[in-house]
Amino acid sequence: MATVEQRRTRSGNGAGPGGTPVENPATGEIITSVPDLKPKDVKEIVARARAAQPAWEALGFEGRARILRRAQKWVLDNTQRICDTIVAETGKTYEDALIAEVSYAANAFGFWAKTAPEYLADERVKSSNMFVKGAKLIVRYKPLGVVGVIGPWNYPLTNSFGDCIPALAAGNAAVLKPAEKTPLTSLLMAEMLDECGMPEGVFGVATGKGSVTGPALIDAVDFVMFTGSTETGKKVMAQAAETLTPVGLELGGKDPMIVLSDADLERAANTAVYYGFQNGGQTCISIERVYVEEPVYDEFVAKVQDKARALRQGVPSGPGSVDVGAVTFEPQMKTIQEHVDDALAKGARVVAGGHAKTDRGRYFEPTVLVDVDHTMKCMTEETFGPTLPIMRVRDAEEAVRLANDSPFGLAGSVFTRDVEKGERIARQVESGAVCVNDAMTNYAALEIPMGGWKTSGMGSRHGAYGIRKYCAQQTLLVKRFALKKDVHMFPYRARNTKVIGGLLKLLYGRGKRD
Ligand code: NAD
Repeated sequence: MATVEQRRTRSGNGAGPGGTPVENPATGEIITSVPDLKPKDVKEIVARARAAQPAWEALGFEGRARILRRAQKWVLDNTQRICDTIVAETGKTYEDALIAEVSYAANAFGFWAKTAPEYLADERVKSSNMFVKGAKLIVRYKPLGVVGVIGPWNYPLTNSFGDCIPALAAGNAAVLKPAEKTPLTSLLMAEMLDECGMPEGVFGVATGKGSVTGPALIDAVDFVMFTGSTETGKKVMAQAAETLTPVGLELGGKDPMIVLSDADLERAANTAVYYGFQNGGQTCISIERVYVEEPVYDEFVAKVQDKARALRQGVPSGPGSVDVGAVTFEPQMKTIQEHVDDALAKGARVVAGGHAKTDRGRYFEPTVLVDVDHTMKCMTEETFGPTLPIMRVRDAEEAVRLANDSPFGLAGSVFTRDVEKGERIARQVESGAVCVNDAMTNYAALEIPMGGWKTSGMGSRHGAYGIRKYCAQQTLLVKRFALKKDVHMFPYRARNTKVIGGLLKLLYGRGKRD
């Protein structure tokens, strides 16, 4: 087993005494520390990646897929070790690491190995335009070069390393800048790729401060895949605009859940509690607010309250030990407390939890708030913690209006036994993804796009676009048989112009019109 020092060296991250300490938020213990790279170090990692990329691209889809499939096996053979690393640096439960991170990687390696050649195959296109008649038209995808991935602390595998997988499958080199608090999973992934035969330099990790390593990476790469807060996303885009470097932005959310009076309330309550408190509520597509139709409000609240009170929280010590883990990022405690205090000051009530617990490690109790409204931060700003505010609404129309009364548009959910109605309402919710009688699981289906509307992002991950974005699109027009001179070429003659005018009428003048 490689030490943290060895992993750093292999990933190009450098060895030596660390700069930023890595803490276990569940216990408060310092695990290790990693270097704060300087801009020149980042430049060097990217230069190595750039030098290694052409040979990686030249391996072709099958050559690259071989290494990705080995990595898939490595993930399955080393599940315990990956989970332990994620749990240690995030304080999340073993199940949160297994279900939402390891299982993602196990699926994603095979998925992109298989679909990259399909999604990036040359496309033959037909055109009705008279100027290209007889020409072969092709759209092809060529890897951009070096992709820079900047990730958040809440999912060090899924939302950080996960975005490197399609970039690599497409034939790019990738340099990952993990969140400063959770770099160890990324370093472990570098060790994994190394053991699986990834050529040196193709994948690099640049640890360090967001405000130093992040901007240095943006300046050096050909595409920036950023996942994080809306606030930082705006800075990333502004900086990338200086070099016209394309960006993908996966940002914050305030996902609404709508519960109609004909819903299966037991299912709805279980889903609210699970997807509100899973990963300690630190998921971009967590259920962050709930709107319940008047007739079933009290019954729904009673169910959620009982289920939330029954959750076990504490130091994760292996499978099944606790349901809800720690708050990974220290400043998040302040935001959660502020949202709860603000709600209480404006008339809300806590029916479960409500308190921070910081005697050992850093926790906030799974908290259910009722009597809430849109004057409160807990309903309008991203909390990103284990809170679930539930609001009473008159009807579905009011629920949709309030769901859309948000600068965010990441995901949402609707609960009803009338699935046609559910789908109709889902289409009215202004979000990149909406589930009916479920939440969040759409993320696991890599075939369908996941991306935010409004301030929740730009572009998407997964599906065809999830890999094509890492490529330059090139159009080829190939003429095998060509006249010495086409009819529209110089010199302009009245007779030819008349022929062109006649052809225009013939081609476009006969359509049905009102
Ligand atoms: P953050 O924006 O603070 O940091 C994200 C990353 O950006 C970190 O690696 C950080 O070091 C880096 N960074 C900081 N300043 C930078 C700069 N000037 N230039 C470049 N990089 C910089 O976000 P966070 O607190 O780590 O993550 C939580 C946020 O991420 C939440 O808002 C959550 O909703 C969002 N998120 C979104 C998705 C999604 O898919 N939409 C997924 C996970 C998390």
